[in-house]
Amino acid sequence: MPNQISTQTLSTQTPSSLLTLAIAPAKVIRGSSILQTASAEIARLGSRPLIVAGKQTLAITKESLQPILEQEHLDIAAADYGADCCEASLESLRKAAKAHKADLIIGVGGGKALDTAKLVAHQLQLPVVTIPTSAATCAAWSALSNVYSEDGAFLYDVALSRCPDLLILDYDLIKTAPQHTLVAGIGDAIAKWYEASVSSGHSQQTLIIGAVQQARVLRDILLQKSVAALQAPGSEDWQAVVDASVLMAGVVGGLGGAQCRTVAAHAVHNGLTHIAGHSSIHGEKVAYGILVQLRLEEMVQGNQLAATSRQQLVKFYAEIGLPQKLSDLGLGNITLAELQTAAEIALNPNSDIHRLPFKVALEQLMAAMVSTTAPVDSRDATNRVSVRGISDEVEQ
Ligand SMILES: [Zn+2]
Repeated sequence: MPNQISTQTLSTQTPSSLLTLAIAPAKVIRGSSILQTASAEIARLGSRPLIVAGKQTLAITKESLQPILEQEHLDIAAADYGADCCEASLESLRKAAKAHKADLIIGVGGGKALDTAKLVAHQLQLPVVTIPTSAATCAAWSALSNVYSEDGAFLYDVALSRCPDLLILDYDLIKTAPQHTLVAGIGDAIAKWYEASVSSGHSQQTLIIGAVQQARVLRDILLQKSVAALQAPGSEDWQAVVDASVLMAGVVGGLGGAQCRTVAAHAVHNGLTHIAGHSSIHGEKVAYGILVQLRLEEMVQGNQLAATSRQQLVKFYAEIGLPQKLSDLGLGNITLAELQTAAEIALNPNSDIHRLPFKVALEQLMAAMVSTTAPVDSRDATNRVSVRGISDEVEQ
């Protein structure tokens, strides 16, 4: 049971009746070409914003967002978030915010820019607006920031006191992002089901049952609409998939809270960042990580349903261009030592991989990482019923 393998043993136990959740942004504005309309809402949150974005995005905001905000008589400063959402960037941004006497942080960009903006706002206790420019993650929604090294190696995550004060999802901005960012967003979002059903599938708590079921619906929307969405950017299906990746994935994490956490897929992602750095993006590594997780359930537990799910996902990944194996992540030539490094990091004592209902040995994880596309071997499958319902797995 997830609660029993929790590594957190607090000396002052939190009473089970006390629940703190950061479920959703205070306000979400969604539509096409909505920056003008949304600018009044931004002005309501502060008059001296610091815009946090990557170099290229900053150049674009100078011509698009900044003139709109100036019409609202805001005194704007802007800063590049640098190499990654890393400690050095966070420090220089806190300085920039203080120098400008900023009373509001506006994050514009992909997951790393938004994670950086949210964390700076959290550290300075300022309100924050998120404006995603791609649908690659649910970072615009969530009350969580991942901190990396300057080279992109995952270090730790920080739970934030609340979700952003305002999320502006402008489809016209998202449409300008490269297609592979939405593909990655699909990978990160579909992971919610494979991870939440393992970490929280046994829970009897109303909100967690709700979160896990939403993760299942989210998976179904993605399986049904992703191919059509990618063929027709801007279409209804495309908007549905963007909403699923940016908004609904955030709902699952917000409603499920600390008990509805990531499991092996994200743990494998974290391990891979130490050998892959910036060569592939978050959702791509996570998508591969789902296959590794299913492979482990299959190999260690003899879980036939996991085997079926893996086959289903491999086919789905091939259709939309998600990575199925290490070589698809640009890691076809890694050494055994590098593979071991990634696996060891994925297995560190605080890793969410330990939320799996069985122990994983280093050799098992390494074997799973190199066999994500292996054909299903019915001899090692013992037909055990997993926490996922049979009907869930055979309906596709
Ligand atoms: Zn993720």
